[in-house]
Amino acid sequence: MSRRHSGGAMKTNGLPLPGPRKRLGQNFLHDPAVIEQIIDLFDPKRGDRVVEIGPGRGALTGRLLDRLGSLDVIELDRDLVPHLKEVFTDRGRLTVHEADVLSFNISKLATNKPLRVIGNVPYNISTPLLFHLFASAGTISDMCLMLQKEVVDRMVAEPGSKSYGRLSVMVGWYCKVSRGFNVRPGAFTPPPKVDSSIVLLQPHSKPPAAVEDLSFFAEVVRSAFSQRRKTLRNALKQLMSESAFEEASVDPGLRAEAISINEFAQLSNAAWKARE
Ligand code: SAM
Repeated sequence: MSRRHSGGAMKTNGLPLPGPRKRLGQNFLHDPAVIEQIIDLFDPKRGDRVVEIGPGRGALTGRLLDRLGSLDVIELDRDLVPHLKEVFTDRGRLTVHEADVLSFNISKLATNKPLRVIGNVPYNISTPLLFHLFASAGTISDMCLMLQKEVVDRMVAEPGSKSYGRLSVMVGWYCKVSRGFNVRPGAFTPPPKVDSSIVLLQPHSKPPAAVEDLSFFAEVVRSAFSQRRKTLRNALKQLMSESAFEEASVDPGLRAEAISINEFAQLSNAAWKARE
């Protein structure tokens, strides 16, 4: 059954356009000033290898093509694909991948140049999308993503703040992260119920802290924050003994929100070695 917000199909260049699909997180950007601000911040240059995730009706796509001459986009909504192919043909070489970005191997698009990734992405898949992109971090030079503001607050949070959590630690381990700017709901059609933010990410060429085993590190971080009111001693008792805290010089009486990325790495390394 259709889950469109609005009834009638729109038409552009003679092609019928479906109404926005809530299920696909379709909130289309319409504010030209915001679109220009995003393009200026991303600063695409001819010769850059750029991939856009979720082009939708092409609010960013056209401006990207004007600057780049060539662009790859990944769009899941097959009803939008013919529109994208027709509307932008005379503005550059557009390659449309009709696919779910979560099962699309982005690395395969990298050539001798690393990829630059941009997208006003569906908010309902933000976290899995970020981790999917991190898995290809070695082939990506930078990313400019529009996400729910509350998610960006968590991504950029520092230890000791209310928003600091699993996402802050994991994002910080993979990437240098900074907020671009915030965007009000009125910039989109239909307006989302939440504020949005642009976030800039640059995968580290060398992680900020050496980690013996990445999946164990991720498990330690997840467990520490899953019971964030508990002390680390209690939250991590299944994963490590008191001696791991001693070896890592981390106070087991602290809570997860007080621990830096480097301290999480030391803790997980000490516990990992003790397992061997
Ligand atoms: N970039 C457009 C804009 O700014 O107006 C559209 C943004 S809209 C928030 C998100 C877009 O991502 C939609 O076009 C939607 O169909 C697409 N999308 C949703 N889930 C997707 C997925 N798993 N893989 C690829 N595209 C997806």
